[in-house]
Formats: sequence, C-alpha cells, structure tokens
Amino acid sequence: MKKRILEQVLSDLKHKVQARENALADLRLKAFENPEISKAQAEYARVKFDALMKGVKNDENIKKARLNYENALKKYGYGENAFEYQPICSKCNDTGFVDGKICSCVYNEYIARLKNECDIEARAPFSFADSNTSKMTREQTDAINKLYGFSWEYVSMYPNVKKHILVFMGATGTGKSCLAQAIARKAVDHGKSALVYSAYEFNTTCLNCHLAPIDEKDNILYNLMTADFVVIDDLGTEPMLKNVTCEYLQLILDERLRSGLTTIITTNLSEIQLKERYGERIFSRLCDAKHSLMRRIPGKDLRLS
Ligand SMILES: [Zn+2]
Repeated sequence: MKKRILEQVLSDLKHKVQARENALADLRLKAFENPEISKAQAEYARVKFDALMKGVKNDENIKKARLNYENALKKYGYGENAFEYQPICSKCNDTGFVDGKICSCVYNEYIARLKNECDIEARAPFSFADSNTSKMTREQTDAINKLYGFSWEYVSMYPNVKKHILVFMGATGTGKSCLAQAIARKAVDHGKSALVYSAYEFNTTCLNCHLAPIDEKDNILYNLMTADFVVIDDLGTEPMLKNVTCEYLQLILDERLRSGLTTIITTNLSEIQLKERYGERIFSRLCDAKHSLMRRIPGKDLRLS
C-alpha cells in the first residue's frame, strides 16, 4: 500500500510538471505568433549573440534590445518571466527529491493519501492527545499511563520493535479500543499504514476470502497481510465460523509475525475464555512472551461512571 501510494504521488507530480510545461510552451507559441513580439525577441537574441562574439559585456545595445522585447511582451499582457517555469515547491523545484531524499511536498501528499486510504479519521478518531484519565481510578490511571507511554514509544520505534502482537484486554469501556486507535493514528502520522477492523469485519473479510475463487484470495487478504499495523477490535464478538474464524486468525497472525508487521487485538475476553474459544495454538501465539505483549486494563466501564 505504502509503495503504491508513494509511486502514485511521484507519478502525479511528474504529470503535473509536464502539463504545466506544455501549457507554458503553448503560451509561448501563441505569444510569438504576434509579429511585434517575435521581431523584438529576434532582435534581442541577435544583439546578444553579436556582443558575445565580440566579447562585449554590459553592452548598451543589449539593454535597449531587452527593454524593447520586454515592452512588446508587456504591451500584449505577458510578464517578464511569463514563459519560464515557476516551480510550486522551491525546495525541490518540483523534482520531488532534495539531495536524493523525498521532498516534504511529496511526503505531505503521501501522508494525506495514506490517511485517506486507511480511512483513519473515521476508523481511528481517538488520538493520544484525547486521553482523559479524570474518571479513572488510581489503578486504572497508572495502567493506562504506562500503556500509553509504551505505545507512544512503540510507534516511534517501529519497525525496530520486538513485540509484534499487542493484546489489550479489559472490560467494555476501559479504553482499550481508544488505545488501539491512538496507536493506529500515530502510525499513519509517521507514514506507516494502519487498518482498523472490528472483529466482525475482520471475520467477514476472512469469510469472503474463504468463499472466493482461488485466484482472488490473495487480493482479498492483501491489505490485511501487508499493512504495518492491523487492529482487530473486540475479538470475541464475532460469530465463530467453522474453518474460517480460528484458521484465518492463526494464518494472518503467523504471516504478519513472519513479515515483522504488528497486529493489535483488543478483547473483553479473559485468558481462559480466549483459550477456550480460539484454542491452544492461537492462545499461545497471543501470550508468547517473545513476540507478544498482553496487558489487561483494570477497572469498570468508564462510559458508565
Ligand atoms: Zn518539493
């Protein structure tokens, strides 16, 4: 997703520059159809060439011929630099690169499109800045603050992180979904792709893949398999589909782990319930200390207090 968006931004920039250059060339052609302008320009060019051949600099004749040419342009509404390309970005002169690195004009456009494709405003409206611990107990505040600190650091360090599965547990309304959203949001701000699914949507995508013809399966799972961050929100609320729910969850978790991509799961379920519902293999993946971080957010529903 990221590579495709960046390539698209660079390609659009190239086309935009080309279109502006073509428009300038057309404008120049049109202006030089005017005999007064073309004559003055030809005279200016001739005088300059003569002076060059004679090795003369700052010649009065050049100044006069130039003024004539400029006046002819002005007379018909053309500015002095009317035919010169004026770059939109002065940092990269519309090449898209500064010292071999992507220019900020390209990067900003890339981030805007990434946000759009990840639908991050709608999917993850909660940001780290929205954190509010005023209704929380001391225990809850400490736990949330610790997790927020960890998560902030985590996104900043990504992809150089050790844990690639983050499981946030806790009762409904304890802020685990908000935390997952804040991570996704910050990830996109950092130029990483992040997709937020409810467990139901995730399950439906897996079912669609399961039912699809073999040559369409990869396409359906492509974003799920390649996004830097995938959030599966409220695991346990989706219906259990035979040959789908557990099988695909396992497949996607393993594949993403192998690729060094991060999966975030939020759930109301306890460890025992997770084990019962998804089986030993998935459960051991979720609480494997080497690759996973499992945290419970204590407390009751904040929305009810
Ligand atoms: Zn630029």
